[in-house]
Amino acid sequence: MRQKIVAGNWKMNGQIQQVIQLTNQLKEMIDTTSSTQVAVMPPAIYIPLVRELLGYDHKIQIGAQNIYPQEFGAFTGELSVPMLKDYNCSYVLVGHSERRQYFHEDENFVAQKFHHVKDHGMIPVLCVGETLFQREKGQTEQIIAKQLLAVSEKNKNCFRDCIVAYEPVWAIGTGKTASPEQAQEVHQYIRRLVADINNSDAESLTLLYGGSVNENNAKALFAMPDIDGGLVGGASLNAKQFLEIVKCIN
Ligand code: PEP
Repeated sequence: MRQKIVAGNWKMNGQIQQVIQLTNQLKEMIDTTSSTQVAVMPPAIYIPLVRELLGYDHKIQIGAQNIYPQEFGAFTGELSVPMLKDYNCSYVLVGHSERRQYFHEDENFVAQKFHHVKDHGMIPVLCVGETLFQREKGQTEQIIAKQLLAVSEKNKNCFRDCIVAYEPVWAIGTGKTASPEQAQEVHQYIRRLVADINNSDAESLTLLYGGSVNENNAKALFAMPDIDGGLVGGASLNAKQFLEIVKCIN
């Protein structure tokens, strides 16, 4: 059985009062008996606050939206994995399309971050996905393969203890979700590709779908055999909506 996960990427949203309110609501309303893992990824400055509000052994796990792949040093403005471990964070997003696009993170740097996170005992959530232009040109599989192989090039066993999120760029924050069938097709492709790289990692790999997931479309997406949960942006800023999405996992 693969671990089911729903993670909320808060991106650069919310200030202190909203962060307190959202965290307290999630804490109050979450079903702590469910086997689905739930994580939130707040802006880094609020991670200590979210940790304090949740406590250290709460069901809701904390992830970071970004790291720099060095343990410490003269990297002004950056954040390290050991710093996140001080707050018992579990996950780090790597290769999110917004970082690839706005911060020009290339495949090499994404791969460096991915392995750094793993080597230092945290779980990377590797985001992959094609743009609308690439999809329309029939390049979806080629792009996904390139993004995955850039990471596995360094270590073929790398898809153990990690999460991959398929996030079509055209569906992120646009309100346009991939249909369950479109998403399943790519998820199945990713699992096959991972099997080709290292067969023993493929079946247990948790594959999330991300891109305008909401409480109305989540059930059909999560019902697909290769979709093991979601990476949720906009809808994770509302506790009720986010937890409705979590409930959509079978
Ligand atoms: C995301 O940023 O990872 C994301 C999926 O955003 P949204 O749900 O808002 O499309």
